[in-house]
Amino acid sequence: MKIGVLALQGNFSIHYKKILEFGETPIYVKNKENLFQCDGLIIPGGESTVMSKMLDYNNLRKTIIDIKDKISIMGVCAGMVLLSKTNSSRNLKTLSIMDFEVERNGYGRQIHSFNSKINFIPSKKNIDVCFIRAPKVLRYSKKIKCLAKLNQDPILLTDGRHLALSFHPEYSSSFEIYNYFKNIIKVN
Ligand code: GLN
Repeated sequence: MKIGVLALQGNFSIHYKKILEFGETPIYVKNKENLFQCDGLIIPGGESTVMSKMLDYNNLRKTIIDIKDKISIMGVCAGMVLLSKTNSSRNLKTLSIMDFEVERNGYGRQIHSFNSKINFIPSKKNIDVCFIRAPKVLRYSKKIKCLAKLNQDPILLTDGRHLALSFHPEYSSSFEIYNYFKNIIKVN
């Protein structure tokens, strides 16, 4: 299985290593040709405003939207912002692939970064993950399922094809989230 990692900005290399450790084939996605080789795509954490601009500079925005019903996408942190329908601003145009909205940096600034044990509802396993200027979910539609919460707040959403995470699974020793994503790719 080929899993692409959008490599325009942000911490794409850690996902690349995780996919290798996980026994699947990672591909850095920098252009359309790379994207067309992928069964799944990870949009990593970083800066959603910069990534939004880089999607346009690299002519990838329309292609990602065009193939959204053929591949599965996992959006991590800034990637979650990009998957959402959060209102666009001058610096940020989201992809509007999943029907939810977030508040960027809703869990605070860089100095408020934290680790937390979360319960992954599908496997009932606890996973240690970290939150870095994480987006807070404000609303999600009935078509979307919440797979984990932090206190009462949704932090992991799926529409059955795509996954959106407020936190970073790549800094965890667990492969639980990657495994779930792999199974979503297989089913779709
Ligand atoms: N706050 C960043 C943004 O909205 C995301 C931070 C991250 O990806 N760790 O783009």
